[in-house]
Amino acid sequence: MTIDLRPPDASKLDAPFDGRDYRLYVAVTNRCNLACPFCSTYSAPTGTTFITLGQVLAHVPREGKYQVQFEGGEPLLHPDIGEFTMHFSHEERCTRIIISTNGSLFPFKLAGKKIDENASRVALRSFFSRFPARMTLKVSLNHHLLGHDPLLFEKAAFLLKCTAGTGIDLIFNLRKRNDPAAGHDEALERAIDEHGLRGATNSFFLQRYGRNSNDENAEHPFIVGTNWCTVNPDGSAWGIDLIGRSEAMRRLG
Ligand code: SF4
Repeated sequence: MTIDLRPPDASKLDAPFDGRDYRLYVAVTNRCNLACPFCSTYSAPTGTTFITLGQVLAHVPREGKYQVQFEGGEPLLHPDIGEFTMHFSHEERCTRIIISTNGSLFPFKLAGKKIDENASRVALRSFFSRFPARMTLKVSLNHHLLGHDPLLFEKAAFLLKCTAGTGIDLIFNLRKRNDPAAGHDEALERAIDEHGLRGATNSFFLQRYGRNSNDENAEHPFIVGTNWCTVNPDGSAWGIDLIGRSEAMRRLG
């Protein structure tokens, strides 16, 4: 049987919808190459907890279709992330595989201060070859990432061009500050339009939990539906309790 891991049009940007298959949101590690001040999972380069495939499989529902989103921390720092995704690509009941990443580990090649398109295309093709041919890639965009990489939006546009027509569904998650002093990050919204990313972008405000708990301008976390479960890098499951999950992440080594 051939499994179509691509989403139906109705979920192109992966917004939750009635009838969506059960989804596991698996934080595969609390290690991240960054340590964003608003991180909801308290991830950092010092994180040392990495989930095993067995711990993920323990939370797969016994029957019915389901989806798996690998997140973190930075999931691309998990040495087995390719193996995880390949495993689920062979599971008949798994209808969608998602990796949610900060995008900073993609192997872009530069020529001076610009993207070397030919070299980057080759490097990206090789990088993606260890993942299933069909999957969803969610890439974060925010002011903090832009501070680390002035080519953030150029790289996003190139990634969109490179993945067009492949089995990779690329989605950008733009997280904005809900802060008048930051102009509500309207410059980021303009950058989305200027780089032709609008049709692939979800736009949200940062939420008020995790390291961002004291940001009074941030939105309170909202929960859509109940047909999903969060799993932490130690294998613990937190259901739809985003705050409990986040606080448990804070306590991990
Ligand atoms: S917000 Fe994302 S990129 Fe930033 S530290 Fe947390 S997991 Fe890493």
